[in-house]
Amino acid sequence: MRIDIIAALPEIVDGPLQHSIVRRAREADAVTIEVHDLRQFATDKHRQIDDYPFGGGAGMVLKPEPLFRAVESVVDAHGEPDEVVYMTPDGEPLDQPTVNDLSMREHLVLLAGHYKGIDQRVRHALVTRELSIGDYVLSGGELPAAVLVDAVVRLLPGVLGDTSSALTDSFQDGLLDAPVYTRPAEYRGLRVPEVLRSGDHARVEAWRDEKRMEKTRTRRPDLLRERMPEEGRTEEEPEPDDRENGAEKNTDLKNRTPGDGPRGGEAEEDAR
Ligand code: SAH
Repeated sequence: MRIDIIAALPEIVDGPLQHSIVRRAREADAVTIEVHDLRQFATDKHRQIDDYPFGGGAGMVLKPEPLFRAVESVVDAHGEPDEVVYMTPDGEPLDQPTVNDLSMREHLVLLAGHYKGIDQRVRHALVTRELSIGDYVLSGGELPAAVLVDAVVRLLPGVLGDTSSALTDSFQDGLLDAPVYTRPAEYRGLRVPEVLRSGDHARVEAWRDEKRMEKTRTRRPDLLRERMPEEGRTEEEPEPDDRENGAEKNTDLKNRTPGDGPRGGEAEEDAR
């Protein structure tokens, strides 16, 4: 897989991608990640990448020319990407099915915004997907891009020592993960549940399933409603649409094909 990240502050996104699992994935050539400095694509001698918003108001806007040139240089060097993703708080919420889906692509380009955001024409003409990492506003898209890369890269074949580990993590089957313990068996009077030390694999699995269900029920009942829409839904709640159910996404990691999934996508209707 190849990931190109275009950012005004490349050092912010560089750091988190040089450690741990992502670093190992890069060293093993499971992924090639290149971070591009937006300023290198500025067209004037002051290397200006932002300007005042038309119509007035507070905050600057990232200019279209450097972003167009940056994406075009990636396309010239490495061909059309599967997706050009803009990280933005008004995007589609990033969730595990979306991460699974993106991990099956071959080439992603990620755009990090700044200030008030990026000129809408970039979103209209270049961006195929817009993703938010949560309902809060950060000062730049570098950390959101790093979050997305980490989430995607750990799913690439051969990256985690034990692939089954990713499959039992929270959200993979719509449940939160069970509690985990390690040695010592007793610490400050707190004991590890006996079943986990029993060596009885079937009992351990049954205990974990029960804990996963219990934790999800108390902390995230919304996940259970998505998982079992018929049982969990109440009268007031509208029927979830297919997209929320992940029906349109190829999210099944066990049946993955590299580069799977539709190429490109539609920009927002109002941007046309
Ligand atoms: N005016 C914009 C916020 C801009 S924040 C709005 O209200 O929607 C500046 C940049 O930080 C954005 O362009 C985006 O790239 C990034 N960013 C901030 N919060 C984010 C979030 N929750 N998810 C993804 N990207 C985010």
